[in-house]
Amino acid sequence: MIQELKLGAVFALRNKLLLLSEMVLWQVYVFPFLVLFDWLTLTECAKAVVDLTHGQDVSTVYWPGNVDFNFTITTREQTQYYWYESNWFGTAEHGGTHLDSPCHFQKGKWRTHQIPPSRLIGPGIVINVTSQAANNADYKLSISDLESWEEMHGRIPEGAIVLMHSDWGVRYPNRSLVFNTNEPEKPSTFHFPGFHEDAASWLVTRRRVSIVGVDTPSVDHGQSIEFLVHQVLGQHNVPDLENVANLRQLPAKGFTVFVGVIKLVGGSGGPARILAVVDDDSEPSRGYVCLGVPALLIAELLFHIVHHNLF
Ligand SMILES: [Zn+2]
Repeated sequence: MIQELKLGAVFALRNKLLLLSEMVLWQVYVFPFLVLFDWLTLTECAKAVVDLTHGQDVSTVYWPGNVDFNFTITTREQTQYYWYESNWFGTAEHGGTHLDSPCHFQKGKWRTHQIPPSRLIGPGIVINVTSQAANNADYKLSISDLESWEEMHGRIPEGAIVLMHSDWGVRYPNRSLVFNTNEPEKPSTFHFPGFHEDAASWLVTRRRVSIVGVDTPSVDHGQSIEFLVHQVLGQHNVPDLENVANLRQLPAKGFTVFVGVIKLVGGSGGPARILAVVDDDSEPSRGYVCLGVPALLIAELLFHIVHHNLF
């Protein structure tokens, strides 16, 4: 009787070991396909283009005092030979995702059409201040935020386009949430984060960056009355970007930003289509390779163990 039990246990163990080896072998078959899948999705990631632009329509958020966005359909009809569409639109310079030209707050500095095209393209940098902004809506991104970024990711390169990520983009286009007030027509009630003027000055003098941008409606925080960041940037002929969208989708570095601002002659700014092209070897792509394949293999093995009730 005892002998039989022992024999039964041995057989059971043998069966389990067989099943387990079969599964391990199965992993070997599956592995090349997983690598191929990962490589294909990685290629997809490597070419990722992130649109940093909110759409322009009647909901476009303007600073109080501006005329609302106007989109008028002029023609949408079938003619004798073709379908034809044409519209008229009107917008203030400073609405939605847009660029501020240096002349916006500094007399004699570059107007929109005068900004050299080379300044509108540059390596992108995201400074994440989401936790600071969550605790304090009046937060001003500081020099120490920039220094801690450099400790983790290296020196901010000359010609960089430096973007503040406060997670404000998800509030857009709700005016009360964007300006963080019950009175969106009253700037004195606004509470949203921006840059500290010292940080702006540090970026333009010590790092000679090309552009500074934010996901909020102004590079100066909501409670600002002197707009010192606008003044500092203007002094150094550095444009800024406001209401930048989708910063959640970007790594801290490893992407190139293209600022397609309207070439408005004599403008103090203008709506801009802003795109980020993520590098081949940026951090998230490496993450997919390093974690993706092993994670899929382990998940698969666990599935089989549970499926066959092995342990
Ligand atoms: Zn502006």
